[in-house]
Amino acid sequence: MNSIQLLFAAAILTGAVETRIIPRFDGLLMELTSSEPIACSIDVTGYSVNVRPGDEVLLPDAYLPFWVLGWELDTDSCGFSIELTDAVDSLEYSLAEDSLTLLLFFRAAEPLLFPELTWNGPPDEPDYGMFDPQYSDSSTIAALELGQQSPWLSDFDCVVIDPGHGGRDPGAVGPDGTYEKDRTLEIALLVRDILNICRPELDVIITRNTDCYMSLGARTRLANARRADLFISIHCNASTRSAANGFETFFLSRARTDDSRAVEMLENSVVEYDDTNDHVFDDPLSFLLADIAQNIYLERSSSLAVAIQESLQDRFPENINRGVKQAGFYVLRGALMPSVLVEVAFISNPEEERTLKTLDFRLAAAEAIVDAVLNFAEEQ
Ligand SMILES: [Zn+2]
Repeated sequence: MNSIQLLFAAAILTGAVETRIIPRFDGLLMELTSSEPIACSIDVTGYSVNVRPGDEVLLPDAYLPFWVLGWELDTDSCGFSIELTDAVDSLEYSLAEDSLTLLLFFRAAEPLLFPELTWNGPPDEPDYGMFDPQYSDSSTIAALELGQQSPWLSDFDCVVIDPGHGGRDPGAVGPDGTYEKDRTLEIALLVRDILNICRPELDVIITRNTDCYMSLGARTRLANARRADLFISIHCNASTRSAANGFETFFLSRARTDDSRAVEMLENSVVEYDDTNDHVFDDPLSFLLADIAQNIYLERSSSLAVAIQESLQDRFPENINRGVKQAGFYVLRGALMPSVLVEVAFISNPEEERTLKTLDFRLAAAEAIVDAVLNFAEEQ
């Protein structure tokens, strides 16, 4: 990979500027927050950010893997420039509509190594012998093309629980080193176990029950192949603002709100390292079918999302209810049934990271999800 030098010219930041970085296995997400609108333009020859003299730029914590970037702090001009090294493949950015928050994602050329995590070549994805939904299930395709729901949805008898991330993809990493993939697995296993106890006739399928990598496409393919009536992906949120807290639930939509963009960017970024190349949305037909399915299940997905939020609110009255949101998550795209993605807490928030480690919290979160599933089942 050639050294890419990006110049962030004329990034004039007036007012207080805060800079934070979240390390991910596939790159670094950096957020600049200002009380005054940020003006910026991008040039591919280098990168620099200038701030008004006297403003303080808070550099990220020392433990972050700075070897990825060659940092140069230019104190004279009250700005700093970043020279991208060979380790960085590309820079993606997004400026919030109010221009107060600028997100930069430095995509790593090679996966970043975290303690106990290594890049092990091909994904250790289990082989489920799944059918390819767009070519082998003609009755489903026919129904979708008529704008009808998947034919198996008349009986509510199967739920797929999807613990986010896994294996070489740790998801978000908390300030104390907690991996999202571990917490999501623990919560998902509890959801499965509780559902098995209180609704033994319901078929509860978990996309992974160990710490293994699974592509995003394989997760919904599994749900489609098993003719699931519901797909719930469980995640822990992360923000570049360590104070961000609370729970939120998403359903699939093309309409993206500004505050959903960062979450979407984090949860989708795994796709870049997904060499299985099996995303349901890769070819035109399945893209179209995914679109139709999305519209058919929009209402029920959103009501499930509302139910989960209410249920979480009941269990965690002290925590912030961030509401139901819409975003373009790849992991939901291709699900031929109602589907949601729930972010139970912020692993990037030191306090919530601590709570995520407690069984009490995980049990209550799992119970909240189960309550919502059971309510949803009643209404079908
Ligand atoms: Zn996640």
